Amino acid sequence: MKLDAKAIRYLTSEDFRVLAACEAGSRNHEVVPTPLISQLSGLRGGSGVNRAISNLAKINLIAKVKNAKYDGYRLAYGGLDYLALNAHQKSKVIYSVGNQIGVGKESDIIVVADASGAQRIMKIHRLGRISFRTVKTNRDYLRHRSSASWMYMSRLAAMKEFAFMKALHENGFSVPDPIAQNRHTIVMSLIDAFPLRQIAKVADPAGLYSELMNIILDLARYGLIHGDFNEFNILIKEELAPEMKGKELTEEEEDEHIRLVPVLIDFPQMLSVDHANAEMYFDRDVECIKRYFKRKFHFVSDSKGPTFAEARKLLLKNPGKRLDVEVEATGFSRKMARELEAYMADVGVKGDGEASKDSDDEDDEGESGSEDEEGGALDTKYSEDVDDSTKRLEDLRVSGSSEQ
Ligand code: ADP
Ligand code: MG
Repeated sequence: MKLDAKAIRYLTSEDFRVLAACEAGSRNHEVVPTPLISQLSGLRGGSGVNRAISNLAKINLIAKVKNAKYDGYRLAYGGLDYLALNAHQKSKVIYSVGNQIGVGKESDIIVVADASGAQRIMKIHRLGRISFRTVKTNRDYLRHRSSASWMYMSRLAAMKEFAFMKALHENGFSVPDPIAQNRHTIVMSLIDAFPLRQIAKVADPAGLYSELMNIILDLARYGLIHGDFNEFNILIKEELAPEMKGKELTEEEEDEHIRLVPVLIDFPQMLSVDHANAEMYFDRDVECIKRYFKRKFHFVSDSKGPTFAEARKLLLKNPGKRLDVEVEATGFSRKMARELEAYMADVGVKGDGEASKDSDDEDDEGESGSEDEEGGALDTKYSEDVDDSTKRLEDLRVSGSSEQ
């Protein structure tokens, strides 16, 4: 589902209160009964509430549901998007919304800007895109909230991603700057770079390869495994060597002094080195890079590893802070982690790594270079022309709301 820019428009304060009431009601109700919406909105008199309800339904922020027992409404993705955007706007994190640059299976990636025009990335998690009917219904996390779980699970994914990005950033890892999280969204700095998937040639594959393996080992030293370490989730920044900055250089000289700096993204599936399947995930991350370098750059490392045993040894000999433990303490609890993991396992949420594995077969058959079309919108670099299509969030301002 796309972020519907058309739905981002002025709402009256009544509309807004009714929207917020739908959200509040859906914490305990699959379908929020109309009288409850009215009550939670704190608005007196029925006609205002009814008008607001029909306004919101018309622009797909809420949807009418005919239940066996009663009629009511549920918050639609558009409604949750609106509430999150509004909160980011109130806290001055986002001023305008630009182009959508990615539509993943479980997320939308959108270029946004703050009031000074500085571009940022908003990632909207959309875990419920896959039907919940495929989920085993006896799961704890679904028992009381079946259809509202898309909202809950998407929020968990955003919370988790933000918590890990923050911990990694604070400990010197090369990741985007985490800026804010609200509901099912996170806002981070925009990395001006292409995913490794898009890089056709690398001057020194061995160097980049060992740098990537060192990142995997470094993560482990801090107690972490990325879990989806692959060519889509590693952005490659081109940086001029510091001593060359400001000098007049020919193109060739520039090429010679460009350094490739990997920036790691996409953290909802990160796990602890103490996870029961840690070794499998660790090996998979390593294998993913090995396979990709072999196929794309025809580079095969002399050494077999790194192995999980080696990583554990490093962890003991030279322990970093345990970020797996730290993140748990910052609010993304072990229970939440388990819920999210169970959900992802149930609905078969596949990382990009799995997706690229699927597409490997196709590549191998027709090796001739249409690779970059794969992965759809995930591959695109952010668009430069954000200003043209930017929609000012002023239009989104909600009169008289104190929503945070
Ligand atoms: P998903 O979970 O859908 O794979 P990702 O976080 O991996 O989402 O983002 C998908 C794509 O969006 C990336 O492959 C990258 O091209 C782009 N992207 C994501 N975050 C950023 C960012 N901070 N800066 C620039 N591009 C980004
Ligand atoms: Mg990704």
